[in-house]
Amino acid sequence: MEEEERKATAEDRRLLEKLAVPPGLCATCEHLRLLASRRSVFVRCGLAATDPWFPRYPPLPVVACPGYRAQR
Ligand code: SF4
Repeated sequence: MEEEERKATAEDRRLLEKLAVPPGLCATCEHLRLLASRRSVFVRCGLAATDPWFPRYPPLPVVACPGYRAQR
C-alpha cells in the first residue's frame, strides 16, 4: 500500500474534525503531519523526527503538549 507523509492542508484539517477520535491540539498545531493512504489517515507528530520525546503517533486526543505551536 502506498503511503505518503505530508504537511496537513486546510482540507485535511477539516477532515480531521470528522475522525471518530478527535485529535485535540494536533488538529491546529504547526507540527501536525499526516500519513495518508487511499483508505486511511493517521495523525503524526512532525517533532518526532528530531526529538524522541515526542511519539511519532501521539495518543489521541492530545489535550496538553509542550511542543504545541498554533499553525500560522
Ligand atoms: S507537537 Fe504536540 S500538538 Fe503538535 S503535532 Fe506534535 S503531538 Fe500534536
